[in-house]
Amino acid sequence: AKQEGRGIACFFDQQMDEQMRERRALEYDLRQALSRGEFYLAFQPLVSTAFSAVVGYEALLRWSHPDRGDVPPEVFIPIAEDVGVILPIGEWVLREACSIAARWPDYLSIAVNVSAVQFRVGNLASVVDAALRDSGLNPKRLELEMTESVLLRNRSATIAILHDLKARGVNIVMDDFGTGYSSLSNLRSFPFDKIKIDRSFVSSVADDGAARSIIRAIVGLGRSLNMPVVAEGVETDEQRQMVLEEGCRQAQGYLFGMPAPVGAELAAQLRLSGG
Ligand code: C2E
Ligand code: CA
Ligand code: CA
Ligand code: CA
Repeated sequence: AKQEGRGIACFFDQQMDEQMRERRALEYDLRQALSRGEFYLAFQPLVSTAFSAVVGYEALLRWSHPDRGDVPPEVFIPIAEDVGVILPIGEWVLREACSIAARWPDYLSIAVNVSAVQFRVGNLASVVDAALRDSGLNPKRLELEMTESVLLRNRSATIAILHDLKARGVNIVMDDFGTGYSSLSNLRSFPFDKIKIDRSFVSSVADDGAARSIIRAIVGLGRSLNMPVVAEGVETDEQRQMVLEEGCRQAQGYLFGMPAPVGAELAAQLRLSGG
């Protein structure tokens, strides 16, 4: 039995080694990915719930690795944040998204995800300035999406940075709301322009009464704070109907459109929505 136990321990050691090697390899590849041009953006439509008209797009980062294929953002973004390459990558995303959106009709917004790491470094406002200046994008069309994790640090410093960004005319969106640690009342102190309810509440709404109550509570809170609410992850017509009834002004999800690279599909959507 002792012999066997050692065998198992050895097996786990090998697995750990394997995982470490894999992680190192990913880190290494991630550091090269930007200069090798392996990133691109996919755009997913944001629609008004009442009319299903496209009002903007969210830029979603894609990494197309020559051997690994498409690596999901859920895998590589946490690593990029860990090793710090999220800073140049995040800057590239902002510049690329702004320069692409600058060519779209004026009424379309462009949402860009900003990592808490980018936020903490303290130069986010100047990175945003540069992206706006070089693309010529109207700042009012830019929405910066950040999750509750940005709120966990120094409260007054966070508020100062948010106001600094807002002074430029850009909009700040609280993303994935309801999944983090901040309380509902926490929102009141932060100058968000919009709240995005996390997909998990939308997807469980058919068989979970509590999920619908949570959506209702968030919309109510948003109303009192003057922050319109967006529902993400809408996949069925039933869910669309529900979020419309509950007062979500905008929605996003596979029902309205998959994230897609700029190309024929996006061009067709833009024509359809009157752009
Ligand atoms: P997120 O910001 O919450 O983005 C929404 C995610 O939900 C996207 O996944 C999108 O493809 C997916 N989604 C949209 N509609 C539906 C739906 O109806 N059903 C389902 N099941 N999923 C839907 P994606 O593109 O894999 O991105 C995952 C996460 O990676 C994002 O979540 C965001 O946190 C992060 N991310 C993506 N791009 C960037 C980026 O440029 N910078 C940073 N910092 N994070 C990013
Ligand atoms: Ca987002
Ligand atoms: Ca989200
Ligand atoms: Ca999410």
